[in-house]
Amino acid sequence: MKYIYVKTIGTVEKVLVNNVIKVLGPLFSHPIKVIVDTEYPVYAFEPKRNQYYAKKIIEEMVVGLPSDCEKIIGITDVDLCTPVLTFVYGEAQLGGSVAIASFNRLKQEFYHLPRNDRMLSERLAKECIHELGHCYGLFHCNNAKCIMAFSSSILSIDNKSKNFCVGCRGFFDKNRKERYA
Ligand SMILES: [Zn+2]
Ligand SMILES: [Zn+2]
Repeated sequence: MKYIYVKTIGTVEKVLVNNVIKVLGPLFSHPIKVIVDTEYPVYAFEPKRNQYYAKKIIEEMVVGLPSDCEKIIGITDVDLCTPVLTFVYGEAQLGGSVAIASFNRLKQEFYHLPRNDRMLSERLAKECIHELGHCYGLFHCNNAKCIMAFSSSILSIDNKSKNFCVGCRGFFDKNRKERYA
């Protein structure tokens, strides 16, 4: 039996994790296991930017991957970046096992708006599905409603659905079938 792992990194409220699990389980047809890691990823911190390099966190997650791990998605509150992008909501190994999602910029408070937990849960679930989609080999999709559409703003995240479009779904199913045949 293979599991989708959800790993919390730093402080993550349980209710947020539970909502992600509720969405991921049925969509990816795998049971979920949770790893709670309350340590902050200090090794990935870039003081000049006051942000964390997503890739370094992914590299750290690759070490000691559980043997029953189908895919693993890290969830963190720290603000993520890459050397070339000012920020990212998440990052994934294309066709690999490991992905990371940050909800730092998914919070209404980030935009000086009142806290909205339902909205945050929804956005984080979408971000996790999107990054795990990359782990299943999916690229970005031109369909703005598809979960694999690239999002550079919170508006485009809110605008897309939690589902793969027909094309992406087909690719995802085919990819899975080939691996499990
Ligand atoms: Zn993406
Ligand atoms: Zn699509």
